[in-house]
Amino acid sequence: MTVEDPFRPEVGEMMAKQIPLVDYLVLGDDPHLVANQCTSCGARYFDRRNGCAACAGTTFTKADVPTTGEVRAFTIVTFAAPGIPVPYVAAVVDCDGTSVRANLINVEPDPEHVTLGMKVRLATETIGTDQHGTEAVGFGFEPLGG
Ligand SMILES: [Zn+2]
Repeated sequence: MTVEDPFRPEVGEMMAKQIPLVDYLVLGDDPHLVANQCTSCGARYFDRRNGCAACAGTTFTKADVPTTGEVRAFTIVTFAAPGIPVPYVAAVVDCDGTSVRANLINVEPDPEHVTLGMKVRLATETIGTDQHGTEAVGFGFEPLGG
């Protein structure tokens, strides 16, 4: 078992200058999400927790989340704050038992193209680039196999 040092990320070893928009998104050759998993009951969270909401356990371990899943719920958002392009699809994706809230991307945002149970896979997208050329990378889910 390796000890993780949260204050020394491996950013310097990455090929491209990219930083993930959220700290549970791991970039690189095989981008994926990492959840905090309760060691007592197995509940998974993407935010930082001091205690488990399901069992009050206080120890967590990192768990890789599968990069493919099924759309369990979705909403087509047609009104949003200024500057946010609409419409877009906000969804809950079940990745082999782990629920992930994310937007669906690379799909027409309408009920003909987005369906419950649709198979999707994790996809990253560049959100913005700063003056040093460092890309901020976010994620969404796109349809599997077009
Ligand atoms: Zn728990």
